[in-house]
Amino acid sequence: MPKKLVLAVIDGLTPAMLERALGEGRLPALSFLREAGSYVRGTTTFPSVTPVCLTSIATGAHPDAHHIPHLVWYHRRERRVVEYGSSFSAVRAAGARRSIRDSVFAMTHEHVSPQALTAFEALDDAGLETAAINFTCYRGRTRHPIKLPLRSGRNRWYEAAYGPRRFFFFNLFESDVTGAPLAIRSRPEGSVDAYAATIGRWLVTRDGFDFLVFYLPDYDYASHISGPDAAMQALERADAAVGELVSAAGGPEAFLDRYAIVVCSDHGQMHVDRVARLQDSFDDLGVFTGRRGTVADGSDVVVTASNRSGMVYALDGRPGRELAERLDGAPGVDLALFLEDGAAIARKERTEVRFAPDENGWAVSGDAGILVGDEYPNAFERVWCALACPNAGEVIVSAAEGWEFEDLGGRHHAGGGSHGSLLAGDSTIPMLAAGFDDPPLPRDARITDLAPLALSHFGVQPPPTMRARVSAGV
Ligand SMILES: [Zn+2]
Repeated sequence: MPKKLVLAVIDGLTPAMLERALGEGRLPALSFLREAGSYVRGTTTFPSVTPVCLTSIATGAHPDAHHIPHLVWYHRRERRVVEYGSSFSAVRAAGARRSIRDSVFAMTHEHVSPQALTAFEALDDAGLETAAINFTCYRGRTRHPIKLPLRSGRNRWYEAAYGPRRFFFFNLFESDVTGAPLAIRSRPEGSVDAYAATIGRWLVTRDGFDFLVFYLPDYDYASHISGPDAAMQALERADAAVGELVSAAGGPEAFLDRYAIVVCSDHGQMHVDRVARLQDSFDDLGVFTGRRGTVADGSDVVVTASNRSGMVYALDGRPGRELAERLDGAPGVDLALFLEDGAAIARKERTEVRFAPDENGWAVSGDAGILVGDEYPNAFERVWCALACPNAGEVIVSAAEGWEFEDLGGRHHAGGGSHGSLLAGDSTIPMLAAGFDDPPLPRDARITDLAPLALSHFGVQPPPTMRARVSAGV
């Protein structure tokens, strides 16, 4: 029987910040794992925002297969905007109750493609004990009744969720009574990660899982406020949360005797100090942004923006190119991305590169220099798969360095950190692995490698929807 596997996700952690903190000796648990294991700088998916990235972790797929396009997007069939929680103001502007329903229930049960098998489903089916703490893409095979009673209303409210066998989600669902307290109001002091650490300790002490996704969101929260290089205390607390698992197992050596572990983030962050309103480039048209749960009747375009990426949807049938050309020279816009005649086009300051997959990799024409190089890691695959998502806009916008797009509630993180773009700062993630016989991740590791890695670790063949570059038994 292979070792049990932990996947710990520290939201928003950049490789530079992790490497600096390790160098300064501030992270005892992660330092031990780094010395015992292997480390690479990997690449996440695009747009590089949490709902998209966590869904890629769970499904081993990009948005073309898993169907989560952004933090905020236009639901064509329901003719409304889905807002997963860009900010409290954005949630209020979209309708708080609907926003909570979308982020807690509908994302996993309605928006993630049923065809995109999650690692929890695949490992549940193989008879393994799966577990997740606070992880938003949690779809599994076990029914968990909701713990807190919620009023029913206009929208059908869920009475239960389908998750991993052992399932803990912000006090809404708790498959076991652990006694862990959760105090959302003391979030700046790391209360969500402390809740996760208490449950993680409980699970390790009871040998309660084969596969655990251990999600730590407090670092991202702190880094948005203070910037990508300044949230050291939050990172120390995330290290302490991982350290709780290690000490619960009886210390470092005992932990690695029983467990293999991957510690990674879901996306990076970059410093931002300037704010643009993406919808301003379309203000001679009827623009719908989705306030208060209204539907988009009579509008020409929908603009959804959050953090460092945005979407433009054409409701009047106008081509993506026309919308993209309106963004030439617009403040904050680095790349306007759209499809035309079966190819993807990246447009930057009126120059374009056109590409599509072919049998040799990518057929590329135009100014290939736009997307080649370290500035935009794994760009062709990520852009192609983002545009091929059926819920994406006709145009996807990637923000320039230092810029952020105002969200539905008019909020931003200027003076702090943000993410979402195709640029390396938002896209590069640390991936640290320990307890494996051989380093399990290649040098060009991708976030979509994690789910197939977990399946292969347990001898389960990854399904075709996963972009598996490894197979079971190899
Ligand atoms: Zn974030």
